[in-house]
Order: sequence, then C-alpha cells, then structure tokens
Amino acid sequence: MLFSDLAAQQERIRAELTAGIARVLAHGRYIQGPEVTELEGLLADFAGAAHCVSCANGTDALQLALMALNIGPGNAVFVPSFTYTATAEVILLLGARPIFVDSDPDTFNIDFDDADAAITRVRAEGGLRPAVLMTVDLFGQPVDYARARALASKHDLTLISDAAQGFGATQDGRRVGSNLADITTTSFFPVKPLGCYGDGGAIFTDDANLAGVIRSICLHGKGEDKYDVIRLGVNSRLDTLQAAILQPKLAIFPDELERRHRVAVSYSERLKGKVITPHMPSGEDRYAWAQYTVRLENRDFVQAGLKEAGVPTNVYYPKPMHLQPAYVQFGGGIGSLPVSEELSRTVLSLPMHPYLTDDEIDYVAASLLAVVGSM
Ligand SMILES: *Cc1c(COP(=O)(O)O)cnc(C)c1O
Repeated sequence: MLFSDLAAQQERIRAELTAGIARVLAHGRYIQGPEVTELEGLLADFAGAAHCVSCANGTDALQLALMALNIGPGNAVFVPSFTYTATAEVILLLGARPIFVDSDPDTFNIDFDDADAAITRVRAEGGLRPAVLMTVDLFGQPVDYARARALASKHDLTLISDAAQGFGATQDGRRVGSNLADITTTSFFPVKPLGCYGDGGAIFTDDANLAGVIRSICLHGKGEDKYDVIRLGVNSRLDTLQAAILQPKLAIFPDELERRHRVAVSYSERLKGKVITPHMPSGEDRYAWAQYTVRLENRDFVQAGLKEAGVPTNVYYPKPMHLQPAYVQFGGGIGSLPVSEELSRTVLSLPMHPYLTDDEIDYVAASLLAVVGSM
C-alpha cells in the first residue's frame, strides 16, 4: 500500500503525458513556451480567477505575493504556527516579522480569535505595522474565507491564502483560488493534490495591477522590454515541460478531487467516534484532501503499530513553527500556542490519494482500530 500513489495516475493519462512532453521536445521552447501561457489560462478558468501567474514553486509563490505588496522590514505578517516551514520562511527572507498564531483544534486552521488578539496586540505595541494575514488551507481544508476576509478588513490587512494543500477545494460554491482571498498561492510539488513532475507553483488574483507586478517580479523585475529592469525581481518560472505535464493532470483533477472526497467519507464512516476524525465539508462543498488526518493520544505507538501492519502514515507536522530552532526567537516559546503544540503531538495522516481501493480503505481503518483497541 502506498501513502500517495502517483503511478496509478500516470497509468491513467500516460498517452496525454507522453504526447505533451513530445510536443515540447519538438518545439524546444523550454522556458516560457506556449504550454505555460495555455496552462495559466486553464488554471485561471478552473479557479474562477481573473489572473494566474505561474512560477517555480509554492514557496516562491508566497514570496512573490509578499514582494508585490512591498512587504519588508517593519511589517508584521500573521501566520498559523501549525503549518509547513515555507509559510514562515518567506516572511523572514524579506525582512518582515512573522507573528505566529494558534490554530483551531477542529479544523487545524488558523484560530481567528487568536489572530484578532495578536493583530490588536501588535498594533498597540507600536513598532511593527500589521500588513498581511496569511492563512493556510491545511491538509486541504479551506479556512473560513468569510471570517478571514472580515478579519483582514477590520484591521486593514491584505489577505493572502497559502493554498498549496487546498487548491481545488470549494467553499460556498466558489473554488479556492478565486477572489475568496486577495491573493491565493499554490504549489505543484509532486504529491500536492495537483502536482507536476518536479517543482512548480502559481499565484491567483483578480487584481490586474498586482498580477502585472507579480509577473514582472518573477521575470527579474522586467518592464515592457526584456532588458528593462524596473524593479527588484527574482528568477521564478514554471518550466514548459512541467506546464505540459500539468495540462492532462488538470483535466482529471475534478474527478480526482471527487475520488479524494469519497476516500475521506469512507474513512470517516469507519473511524468516526472511535478516533478524532477530521472536519468534513458541508453540502456540495469539497475539501482538497491533501491529507486525511486523525488525532490520537499515543500517536507514536499507533504509528508504529500501523507500520507493522504495512500501513504507511506520516506526521504533518511534528513541531509547530514557533518552536523550530530557526524561528524560536520570533515566538513565545513552549506553552505559548497550546493548540498548535497539542496538534503536533497528536496528528497522524493516513494514506490518501484518489486511487485508494475500498479494500485498502477497509484495511487501513481496521488496522488503525485494532492498534487503538490494543492499547
Ligand atoms: C508544499 C507547501 C508549500 C511550499 O510549496 P513548494 O512548492 O514545495 O515550495 C508552502 N506551504 C504549504 C502549506 C505547503 O504544504
């Protein structure tokens, strides 16, 4: 059994993948080839966004968004501590300050009350200007965007959504990547819900001016002419080959999202009430289910037991960002964000991909319940 099965997907679209790669080899435009622009159009349509700019990876996507907003020294960016390092790292690379916020134990996402209190506190202290609220759709579950928007407007912050795990999800009928946030970023790292065969990322916004600035920054700050440098930029482009690979993957993405949803529903039917199962979407809404994550006391014992049974699992994330050696000086230390710390101690992600069979789901659930029952 595999934690994440890229081979099954490849088998399904091998002909389209091979044809796409062959087309790029034939025209030879490996950088900024026609497949890149095509893909950006397809992604914007899929997300319901006015603009999509592709880039080299999901971490760059976040950095480019912050650079386009002129975030730097003196600015505070509010982020959940229970996330992947990339969310925090780009803030510090630009000289701004991350303010780590606690998470909601039910959704794993940012705790809006704690964020509100943190923004109010930073403003009262003076020194730093609260500038950005950066939420994360952790494990593929969108944050409550209406609340995120309301909080950002209340404090006059820009809302950036790190949807590396949540891209493709819907909320109130709208796709993550549409203007649920001011700027949404995603990653095409191979095992993200929509992944390529290397690194890749994209930025979505309805703001034409911001989109233009982001496009310039990722091409070395170029102006109208290639050798006009009108602002400080970076080199962050999606390879033409990756764009060609992503096109057939995007075509089956809606079906794969539906399959992930069915896997999540099946897991929850088997596990609900026996372990703490993840929050489920309501009505027609869908999560992207980058991970299916349960919470357990004695998590490490259960993980070892599942390994014995041949069930691969992962812990995302064993340490919240405010306790990481690289960031500890910017946080309040042990005990300061109790929910993030509790989640790091108790979360366990089960195998999750669109091609899990009913037998595999049964086996994972039965093995998990057997280990939990043996404690
Ligand atoms: C994967 C991920 C990123 C970074 O994406 P890369 O493409 O690996 O740079 C950022 N944020 C979150 C929440 C992620 O899961």
